[in-house]
Amino acid sequence: MPARPSPHDGDDAPLIRIEGVSKTYPARAGAAPVAALSGIDLAVPKGEILGVIGRSGAGKSTLIRLINGLERPSAGRVVVGGAEVSALAERDLRAVRARVGMIFQHFNLLSSRTAADNVALPLEIAGWKRDAIRTRVADLLALVGLEDQARRYPAELSGGQKQRVGIARALATGPDVLLSDEATSALDPETTRAILALLKRINRDLGLTIVLITHEMSVIRAVADAVAVIEGGAIVERGSVFEVFTRPRAEITRSLLAGETGHGLPPGLAARIGPEPLPGAAPVLRLVFRGAGADTAVIARLARETGIEAAILAGSVDEIGGQPFGALAVALSAGPDVAARARAFLVGHGVETESLGYLAPNREEARVA
Ligand code: ADP
Ligand code: MG
Repeated sequence: MPARPSPHDGDDAPLIRIEGVSKTYPARAGAAPVAALSGIDLAVPKGEILGVIGRSGAGKSTLIRLINGLERPSAGRVVVGGAEVSALAERDLRAVRARVGMIFQHFNLLSSRTAADNVALPLEIAGWKRDAIRTRVADLLALVGLEDQARRYPAELSGGQKQRVGIARALATGPDVLLSDEATSALDPETTRAILALLKRINRDLGLTIVLITHEMSVIRAVADAVAVIEGGAIVERGSVFEVFTRPRAEITRSLLAGETGHGLPPGLAARIGPEPLPGAAPVLRLVFRGAGADTAVIARLARETGIEAAILAGSVDEIGGQPFGALAVALSAGPDVAARARAFLVGHGVETESLGYLAPNREEARVA
């Protein structure tokens, strides 16, 4: 591809650079123009799995389609492997698309072609010889675990198998980048896990850079190294999966994370938590244990050393991005200065705390007691 050498494109330069990009779709009959993206800056290092998450209509698909030149930005530039995709003529974009594979939510397979012939398609377009295609397709089908399904038609395959064909097809021309637009959104949880594991293996074994779009934090958590959160056409948060999951800053990130990392409380409990310290109400804290130093025995120690008991209401201790992380919501025993004393103790033991309010006594429990 006609790469325009740039002084910024050394070996460790990001493989994908999106600089000051905006995209406005022109007005359609009776409707105003749509500003789908505005002021996007995003760099993706080679070999990274970047998850892009946001609600429906946030601009995710538009962003990914700019990377392989399916859309052109209204402003700014998109550079992939040194080639300025946003400035290329249609003829030169074909070469870019051979370096950038893509997989889709609904697989987009040709129903009239077998699995093998679907995978062969990009090679036929690229002008490969028959024998070379046959060998390459066999290798690709083996890579995705479908060596036994070569002669089957899409209608004879499960959703997970169809997506494996889609992945093999996307990898056919040996791309550096794989773009995934909600590739697991039509699959059940178990199949989703298997497909994400396959993507992770491909990333590791082939050194492929992956940009993966999803509306589910669980997908990001399972597979991504880094995450960009997109809302209303802008990137509102960007960082490592561990950083963003354990210190979400944007409101949208917190809401997408609810239920994923103990950030959320069961609705019944949440309804009983208010801002006022009413008589008999228990202070509720969110405790965050981050990284290797996280000491979850601290709750027992709190009781022993200060006499303050902390009942766990919700949360979990788990691993995110390969590092230990826990977020617990706890209700403290009532009493003067309890919250302040508990927080001082916990902070002194490396646990972050945040006040969630006060838990009104449960009428049922009060009556029984
Ligand atoms: P997401 O993938 O996050 O759901 P999209 O990138 O598909 O978001 O869409 C972002 C916004 O752009 C939405 O308001 C959508 O309706 C609009 N949009 C997307 N594609 C087009 C198009 N081809 N023409 C006009 N508007 C579009
Ligand atoms: Mg979309």
